[in-house]
Amino acid sequence: MSRPYYIAGNWKMHKTRAEAAELAKALVSQLKDGKHKYLAAPSFTLIETVAAIVKGTNIRLGAQDCAPETEGAHTGEVSVLQLKDLGVQTIILGHSERRHIYKEDDALINKKVKLALQHGFEVILCVGELLEEREAGKAEAVCETQTVKGLEGVAAKDLDRVVIAYEPVWAIGTGKTATPEDADAIHAFIRKVVGKLYGQEEADKILIQYGGSVKPDNAAQLMAKENIDGALVGGAALKADSFVPIAKFA
Ligand code: PEP
Repeated sequence: MSRPYYIAGNWKMHKTRAEAAELAKALVSQLKDGKHKYLAAPSFTLIETVAAIVKGTNIRLGAQDCAPETEGAHTGEVSVLQLKDLGVQTIILGHSERRHIYKEDDALINKKVKLALQHGFEVILCVGELLEEREAGKAEAVCETQTVKGLEGVAAKDLDRVVIAYEPVWAIGTGKTATPEDADAIHAFIRKVVGKLYGQEEADKILIQYGGSVKPDNAAQLMAKENIDGALVGGAALKADSFVPIAKFA
């Protein structure tokens, strides 16, 4: 089954508005002939600036999180309604930094996934094991639990707006990458889990990105693997010079 490639940049908590505008403009001009699906996910405060630049281009606008409720007394949170108002199309949920630094559990992430889908967004659901979990032989079990619990109650009709990002936590921002073979094996396993939940046809269709120190010099080997359908890129997404070669991997 041939699936499109989807390369997403998670800008995390970096950049001022001027810096974000500069990067967004560089991406728009250098990716205009890009053949894949692209996303830029800046901090909330930068979204309006980036939205004005990527509007009408082949770069989707993303957010890095959302609140589990639509409105109300939730100091410091940002609602799906506010993200929609800014033109956000995709929300990254369950990123390992949300899970491990901010202690988000599968139930909270699932609530956000369902709310974002209900409001028409595409969701990138991040899953992935810690180093000690991998060393204990639990990588598959962790990814299965996070996938099953993250998708609990998600209807099959909404699955075409769900992307899964496999991001082994030990590879994020560390310069260590899973080997293409190891990553592909977990991607195949996650696809099987989706198959058990939604059937083979949906499993064949779902996009599974790899994330964890993807760089211009390892992107092509990772993307060559059968079950790797793109990348969620952190550090290398902060500069056009490193993101564009990943986005245009050959
Ligand atoms: C990420 O934060 O999703 C990520 C994969 O980061 P990095 O590319 O820096 O490892």
